[in-house]
Amino acid sequence: MNEYQDQAAKFDLFRATGNYDTVAFVEKVLGLVGEAGETADKVKKILRDKEGRISEEDKLEIVKELGDVLWYVANVARYLDTPLEKVARLNLEKLEDRYQRNLIHGEGDNR
Ligand SMILES: [Mg+2]
Repeated sequence: MNEYQDQAAKFDLFRATGNYDTVAFVEKVLGLVGEAGETADKVKKILRDKEGRISEEDKLEIVKELGDVLWYVANVARYLDTPLEKVARLNLEKLEDRYQRNLIHGEGDNR
């Protein structure tokens, strides 16, 4: 994951600035939300126009959007000086803790 993050940095047009208090960082956060929206839009159109039937082409287009989401996640983390591996590990640890305490369902970031 960290190797992906390093390679993804190459395509950050603002990478020279690379700091969390810059417009470049905000651009990455906005990009992340935008790509998540593009993913949702692809699924919405499948529901609306194709009666929910997903073709192999549809899957590929959704997977490409997930790649865009991943790119922004990797770069947001980079601006926070955080290896992508750590993002993944902390997430799994959080979910495992909730699972062990039977709190997978419910609300709240820190339950
Ligand atoms: Mg996209």
